[in-house]
Amino acid sequence: MKQLHARYPFLQSAREAVEGMTVTIVEIVRTEDEVVKRAVERIEGALEDGTIGESHRRDRVELLSYPVARVLVSLVDEHVLTRKYATAEARTAHDRFEYDLNRTVEFKSTQREQVTLDTLLREFSIASGVRKTSNGSAVDVGTYLDLAADKRGDEWRLVNRELADGEVFLASGEVLVLIRQAVKQRIESGLPLTVPEEIATGLETARERVAESLAELDLMRDIDTVVPEMFPPCMRALLDKVQKGDHLAHHSRFAIASFLTSIGMSTDEIVELFQVNPGFGEEATRYQVDHIRGDTSPTEYSTPSCATMQSYGDCVNMDNLCETIAHPMAYYEAKLDDTDEDEIVDWRERQSSDA
Ligand code: SF4
Repeated sequence: MKQLHARYPFLQSAREAVEGMTVTIVEIVRTEDEVVKRAVERIEGALEDGTIGESHRRDRVELLSYPVARVLVSLVDEHVLTRKYATAEARTAHDRFEYDLNRTVEFKSTQREQVTLDTLLREFSIASGVRKTSNGSAVDVGTYLDLAADKRGDEWRLVNRELADGEVFLASGEVLVLIRQAVKQRIESGLPLTVPEEIATGLETARERVAESLAELDLMRDIDTVVPEMFPPCMRALLDKVQKGDHLAHHSRFAIASFLTSIGMSTDEIVELFQVNPGFGEEATRYQVDHIRGDTSPTEYSTPSCATMQSYGDCVNMDNLCETIAHPMAYYEAKLDDTDEDEIVDWRERQSSDA
């Protein structure tokens, strides 16, 4: 059992090591409680704080807990869980890559088998698209777009990158961010797995526990984050119109105001966000927002569903994510869930730092 495989269980060689074992997943699930417990920990850690928790002291348990965790994620089969789990595994891998690659040469020579940047690039079949430069890396633009497409933050947009002869230039360390994206893609690929009945039965208690943890998280969820770039296309379009001073029909105005209220904005903040255009009616906006939030009415209104938005003609510019959700709030939640917390910068924070 190699420590390298326990540390990086998504590597092809780790997978082969598991496949080469005499024990099957069915037997592990039936007889190795510690493996199942650690698998649950990996997933609960992902839900609670975006990590996979402390490694188990035994490499075998640590390694086997990874395929069992993938099976559990598949049994629960919720998009948000899969994303959070893959993100947490990839984040942990990134931290470990950084640690391992930065250890001193002398220390490395006395220690366990290590990953190197070259082996990582080969592992994800991107070695031919990446070359070293004096201060970082140059990445073939196709490879860059494949891996950076999900990255938030202006610095990852191709237009903000130095690009020459089909290569994008990265600073030192940034190539590891792309490898982290490759890890995430690999972990998500193939999920949900088709799980044989025998394994599903053996994991029923663990599955229930994970499903409960997920349900608790949903109940606790109270969005208070304003990132206009992640708004669903319909809401972005409505906000654009308001800010340009275009006239909005009542249902459209209601839709954008209720959405902004639902994501935690106060009446004052909504008025401020709307106020880019001098022609906007502050008093009418205040009245409507207060009404929607229930301050001046007996009802607190919620954001219309996609079906309602479609029936009013407010559903525009649908993208791939729209195909998977039924409510603009679900779209926004999915975007937030899919983004590292340190990459989320609330519009209100930006406003106060600009002031
Ligand atoms: S599908 Fe839903 S979230 Fe997407 S644009 Fe239409 S209404 Fe908005």
